[in-house]
Amino acid sequence: MPGEFDLIRRFFMDATADRPDVVLGIGDDCALLQVPGDRLLAISSDTLVSGHHFTADVDPQALGYKALAVNLSDMAAMGAEPAWASLCITLPQADERWLKDFMCGFSELAACFDVQLVGGDTTRGPLSVSIAIQGFTDRQGGLRRDAARVGDRIYVSGTLGDAGLALRVRQGRYVPKGEMCTLDERLDRPQPRVALGRRLGKFSRCAIDISDGLGSDLMHICEQSGVGAMLNLDQLPLSLQVGRYVADTGDWSLPLSAGDDYELAFTLPAELQAEFEREAGSWDVPVTCVGTIEPGEGVRARLPDGRIIEEVTRGYEHFRT
Ligand code: ADP
Ligand code: MG
Repeated sequence: MPGEFDLIRRFFMDATADRPDVVLGIGDDCALLQVPGDRLLAISSDTLVSGHHFTADVDPQALGYKALAVNLSDMAAMGAEPAWASLCITLPQADERWLKDFMCGFSELAACFDVQLVGGDTTRGPLSVSIAIQGFTDRQGGLRRDAARVGDRIYVSGTLGDAGLALRVRQGRYVPKGEMCTLDERLDRPQPRVALGRRLGKFSRCAIDISDGLGSDLMHICEQSGVGAMLNLDQLPLSLQVGRYVADTGDWSLPLSAGDDYELAFTLPAELQAEFEREAGSWDVPVTCVGTIEPGEGVRARLPDGRIIEEVTRGYEHFRT
């Protein structure tokens, strides 16, 4: 079996492009990084553990991609510009083919966002992947969870529930009626909304990425901002497939709480809504107004027939129509 440093040299050292702000990258005791003086450093990390976040037979390329994608999504949700990453990986054995494929997925996405891998750790044990990512926000501090205000409009990017539906179909828990385009890409290769997050700063001070589902992620905004939220379910942006699923089953839990979509939910003052929508009309990711920030607490939702769900985050049976 190749030694640890041999693996580091072959698979990690030149895995990503060189950034000019990396004074010293992989190979020493620490990386040395040039932080821009006029911005704030944004730091985040995420761990994926075998048996919990993925199965041991996971496609390594998809895992490498997704592990970095979920970290980039945190940068997006902060309105931050990603720059550097470190990778702590625990492997049952030094499977070179596996590592090559894993790094292929990782490096592809790193190249898209100009992220350089600057360090990490490599150990033996049950498979797990932990990535830390660093980037920059403006001096105002980007898009925070505690910055929603009563009267703000709530927006989401893209469509909701696609990853959850792909998982249900893959697990055989739902068989679509008739022809249906696969949503596997939405589950395996989420597109971190980094460009969107950075554009939002002009209109919004508050965002979160939708990793657990719109209901519970919006709940974090409500708790930290000391407000409540009302969602209009007939305004939720749904793909054709999820729209059909909801029509078939009456089950709103998929777009509200299935998670793994890595879209952004964000708020902005009502008086900026018209200008925002004019500008956002030309962006490559659609954004949709889905509700309003209200006084009080908790996330409520109005069903298309006008009935109100009082606590969106309180379990699936509440969403059946
Ligand atoms: P130390 O013994 O000081 O922890 P290591 O031998 O673990 O150093 O690592 C040597 C160098 O390789 C360090 O610069 C470390 O950041 C880097 N490195 C180790 N594992 C990884 C990895 N999985 N991805 C990126 N860099 C790594
Ligand atoms: Mg080490």
